[in-house]
Amino acid sequence: MYCIINAHGYINETQCISQIFFPNEKFIIVSEPQPEGVTLLSSLSCEKITARIYENGKFVLEEVLPFPQALGENAKTRFLPQTSNDTAAKFLPQYSREAQALSETATPAFSKKAVCNAIQKSVFYACMKYRPAKAPWGLLVGIRPTKIVHEMWESGFTTDEIKRYLTEFYLASDDKANLCVTVAEAEKRILRQNTHNSVSLYIGVPFCVSRCLYCSFSSYILKRYEKYIDAYVAALVKELTAASAYISGKSLQTIYIGGGTPTSLTASQLEVLLGAVNKCFDISSLSEYTVEAGRPDTLNDDKLNVLKANGVSRVCVNPQTLNNETLVKIGRSHSAADFYSAYNSAVKTGLNVNVDIILGLPGETEREVKYTLDELTKLSPDNLTVHTLAVKRASALKEQLENAELTDAACVNEMLSLSDAAAREMNLFPYYMYRQKNMLGNYENVGYCKKGKEGIYNIQIIEEKQTIVAVGAGAATKHYDSGRNLIRRVYNVKTPEEYINRIDEMIERKNKLYEFDSEHS
Ligand code: SF4
Repeated sequence: MYCIINAHGYINETQCISQIFFPNEKFIIVSEPQPEGVTLLSSLSCEKITARIYENGKFVLEEVLPFPQALGENAKTRFLPQTSNDTAAKFLPQYSREAQALSETATPAFSKKAVCNAIQKSVFYACMKYRPAKAPWGLLVGIRPTKIVHEMWESGFTTDEIKRYLTEFYLASDDKANLCVTVAEAEKRILRQNTHNSVSLYIGVPFCVSRCLYCSFSSYILKRYEKYIDAYVAALVKELTAASAYISGKSLQTIYIGGGTPTSLTASQLEVLLGAVNKCFDISSLSEYTVEAGRPDTLNDDKLNVLKANGVSRVCVNPQTLNNETLVKIGRSHSAADFYSAYNSAVKTGLNVNVDIILGLPGETEREVKYTLDELTKLSPDNLTVHTLAVKRASALKEQLENAELTDAACVNEMLSLSDAAAREMNLFPYYMYRQKNMLGNYENVGYCKKGKEGIYNIQIIEEKQTIVAVGAGAATKHYDSGRNLIRRVYNVKTPEEYINRIDEMIERKNKLYEFDSEHS
């Protein structure tokens, strides 16, 4: 789609909203309505905020909000349903005087945030009228909506006020506002254990047996990279050793070995890596030690024994679906039977097991999702993470989009209800969540767990209230400065070859951060 921006700089913010309604379309800035396709105009003046839609160069509709009272009563009169069958109005929450008051309390009336919000609202309403779509999260396009809840609690807002803020300022549905608050409450129980001194450690192993259709991670095909793996593990050990001096002065809460699929390493390579972790850190007081074994066909008893013997407490064994036909379609190299076997062996070894599934996989309807959920209910895992398929930029799915049949929003909604019901049947409750760009139906990913089995690292990575030292190719260290509520990031190079060749530079980059931390803490 094309977009004209007049007299404001909120280009990304306008793009994010328009892409709810025009997913997977390029967003091209132009200076006048284009003769072909849809052009959106967003403009700001002293009197009003306008969003206008043109089709093939011809004006179709516009939404105008007066400036700066755009957040309140006026929106009510302009945007409440004109007729009972107004399709767009079905999705729009009701406005009220309280909403205006609340918005103005939370964000001063003339603040940038309020102006940006009004611009986004005008775009949202115009797009919704032109191309009605499910937008359950309203204007909340960020990855971490629960952060807003935590910040508002800290500022003294009550839970009811926060829910109203989410629905009226951000136009989230009641269901999503409730989910957001429920998850934030579960997170709060974990986050309150954080001290200024607590840290987590992430170790990246970016190799996989094959590449999944939807994957956008830095993942390198094992067969092609086999020759680098020993050198890669040696570089990891060097980086871990360098990090140990910093971490030994801290309280290490969790370790997470992710990727990729770390269990694509051989049992002896895993032994080298996990042995080094044990040598470098005191793991006796860890709250959690996770290894991703995303591909069930990479696990065997030898590797499970190495994990267990080295203090690992939790593994992720991810079927994504238990329908073999879909597994082939999405480029996974394993079958449902591989999953059952890996899952049962992991449980037998005494590890907590997380299981990931994805809703909206190609060719799947509610029937296939229900089958997967029924099968998982029989296993009753400690953790279940329910993802909604996202069409990511670097994925094969994105490239094949023209031939791919994507699941519609109503169907994804039904799948989400099925998974929520199944999770509750398994005595699992939602404890963390995040969103991504271009998710089918604009929904979310939710992690469920049994009581006391929260994936602590998952919460820390989403809420960003703890330093996470990250080693390995593509890893991003996040230093959390609790005094200033600031995050500083240090990135490692992406490819395994570069990582191996530039390991000393990676270590040096982080040493600077450690020095900064010791000088300022
Ligand atoms: S297992 Fe994960 S990291 Fe590996 S290819 Fe699939 S999505 Fe990507």
